[in-house]
Amino acid sequence: MAIVAATSKKILMAVEQLKHNHPTQEGLNFFYHVAGLLGQRLWFYGKTRNYTDALHINVERCIGCGNCARVCPMGNISISDHKAISSEKCTMCYRCINLCPQKSITLIGKRVIAQHTIKDYL
Ligand code: SF4
Ligand code: SF4
Repeated sequence: MAIVAATSKKILMAVEQLKHNHPTQEGLNFFYHVAGLLGQRLWFYGKTRNYTDALHINVERCIGCGNCARVCPMGNISISDHKAISSEKCTMCYRCINLCPQKSITLIGKRVIAQHTIKDYL
C-alpha cells in the first residue's frame, strides 16, 4: 500500500509538471538508466518476450461486462457464456486489470489493491 501511495503521489506531481509544460526529468540520468536496466527492463524482457499466459480471471466474480475484452490491445480476452476468458497473448499492459469493475483480473499478485487510468490525473 505504501508503494502504491508513493507512486500515486509521484504520478500526480509529474502530471502537474506536464500540464505546465515542464515534463519531469526524473529517470533520464545515467543512474536511472542503469537502475532501470537492472531492476526492470531485464526482468520484464524475460517476462514479455513470448507474451504470457499468467493472466488470471476470477470467473466467480466476473459479471461478463466485456470491459476487459474491449480494451485489450492484443485481443487476448474474449467473452463466452457471460464470462471472460484469457488466452496466452497478454503483454502485461494492465489495461483490463485497471478497468474491471469487479477487480476479477490479476497478473502479479492475488488481489487488486488499486485501479487507475489516466483520467484520474487529468
Ligand atoms: S494486461 Fe493488457 S494485454 Fe494483458 S490481457 Fe489485459 S489488456 Fe490484454
Ligand atoms: S471487465 Fe471484469 S467483470 Fe467485466 S468481463 Fe472482464 S473480467 Fe468480467
